[in-house]
Amino acid sequence: MLHKSPFPPLPPIPDMNAFQMMYGRADQADWDHALFVEDKTGKKRMFKDAPKHIELGRTALGAPVSLGGLQLGTDEIVAILANNSINYYDLSMSLLSLTIPFALISSYSTRRELVHGLKLTKATRLFVDAKLLKNVLSAIEDPEVSLTADKIYILAGTAPKGRKSFSGMIEGVVRRKTPVVGVVPATKDTLAYLVMSSGTSGLPKAVMISHGNIIGSAFQPIVAAPILEPYAPKPPGEHIVTIGVLPMFHSYGLHVYILRATIAPVTFILMESWNGDRFLKAIVKYKPTHLTLVPSLIHQLTVHPNLKSTDLSSVRAIASGAAYLPPALNDKLSRQLKKGASLTQGYGLSEATLSALAYIPPGTFGLNGTVTTSQGMLVPGLEGRLVLPDGKDATGDEVGELWLRGPTVCLGYWNNPTANASTFVDGWLRTGDQFTVDKDGFFFFADRGKDTLKVSGVQVSPKEIEDVLFSHPDKLISDVSVAGVSGGRTEDEKVPRAWVALSPAGRKLGSEKTVQALLSWHQEQLSRYKWLRGGIEVVKTIPKTPTGKTLRRTLVEEYERKQKAR
Ligand code: AMP
Repeated sequence: MLHKSPFPPLPPIPDMNAFQMMYGRADQADWDHALFVEDKTGKKRMFKDAPKHIELGRTALGAPVSLGGLQLGTDEIVAILANNSINYYDLSMSLLSLTIPFALISSYSTRRELVHGLKLTKATRLFVDAKLLKNVLSAIEDPEVSLTADKIYILAGTAPKGRKSFSGMIEGVVRRKTPVVGVVPATKDTLAYLVMSSGTSGLPKAVMISHGNIIGSAFQPIVAAPILEPYAPKPPGEHIVTIGVLPMFHSYGLHVYILRATIAPVTFILMESWNGDRFLKAIVKYKPTHLTLVPSLIHQLTVHPNLKSTDLSSVRAIASGAAYLPPALNDKLSRQLKKGASLTQGYGLSEATLSALAYIPPGTFGLNGTVTTSQGMLVPGLEGRLVLPDGKDATGDEVGELWLRGPTVCLGYWNNPTANASTFVDGWLRTGDQFTVDKDGFFFFADRGKDTLKVSGVQVSPKEIEDVLFSHPDKLISDVSVAGVSGGRTEDEKVPRAWVALSPAGRKLGSEKTVQALLSWHQEQLSRYKWLRGGIEVVKTIPKTPTGKTLRRTLVEEYERKQKAR
């Protein structure tokens, strides 16, 4: 059965540069607030000054070299490896306005992950925070990375001698009075950026998001106003304050703090990374009205010793996304909020640009109540189906894989025809997530039907961890399987665990020492959230189907049974 969004339809997506839709609307004329405040540095950016800064950034990046610019062409891919900052905003908006695609790379990347990201995206330039530069200079020594040291620039922090910085480039064009570079026209299919996702299986892939996808995504809260809080346009005088702690290199942070940032009057208090103490202090200092979080951060807040003594009365609404929010965890934080404040969850994925399902407040669409255990209803512009393994549509209470269609479904994966063929079928995006839907159109998450895991709201690919274990220089294992087991921060979150069969070298070293060696090795190679928090177990053989497919579920079930019996 075809499920439609209950909201009014999206207007036709115009062929325009997504940047142009962000500024210059009539309702913005009276806005006089800080768009950003950096919590660490205290640096501020007023909303009214933002377009000027982006214009300067665009000029520094696009002007001819002879006029002091970088003269970037639209055939380039500019990687960004940085923590949240005002410069991150300026750079990504400048690139967007020039139609130069940017590739978002996790600032937590290890050398190996960086090499993968640079090879995958074929980045021709890279902007990096000064403190992350060392890692980049090491990664480009890999023979398969084509990026050269002279095409690496500092985004935030002090640039070492001889290396250009984004701020220095801007100062240069201001000094030389370089003629301003205009916004470059785009069509709805013009590539805007690449964001990493493991999709439903395999190694991280680069999702291609177009200017039309961004515009469609930004239209969603406008069409659904005032239901889709908080980034819907507001009555005059209403102003939101929120803490920008989610990383800008992930779709959630990128859209909320950058691409949708000017739809409603919002001040974002930017934090470089999560720190519970700082976050609670920021709540007291800046009195946020809204918070956007992920379940693992909500969990960390609920167990923080200072939560109870922190005044949360400014907070009107908290939105949770990126992973399943268990009702018990919702209750735990909700109890600390003032009366009438809400904590709601939505569901989305990078391949659908941002949101796919959104919370619906009681009374909406003539419905008497709302279902708090639901991830919500389809957002404007999206159609959905729940598909059974045999390709038929689910009926009644049946669980099916959610397929999505609409203007916010991405262009596909960058240079990956195999993943494209399996993920995008007849115009539908296969999410790999299992849901049920009730008669009113509320969707309920049933299971991550895919191989990948979500740890701290970030995707983790078992295949990537398996590859790392295999790649130990002493070749300690002959076979491996990685899968998610219980033990995460929330009752639902899984953590990766590995089952390994030893190679002759591993047997020689002995099980215990092999496990120790593999633990140290994978911690060096992978970001912390991918670490095998579920442990490593040595087994004689990895169980397989007659066709050679690993029986992950058997391994997991046996492990969970043993855990329960303990
Ligand atoms: P990403 O592309 O990193 O945003 O990851 C998208 C995936 O996160 C989805 O395919 C889901 O598996 C998971 N996800 C996002 N939001 C939710 C939610 N509210 N409940 C359950 N899973 C979620």
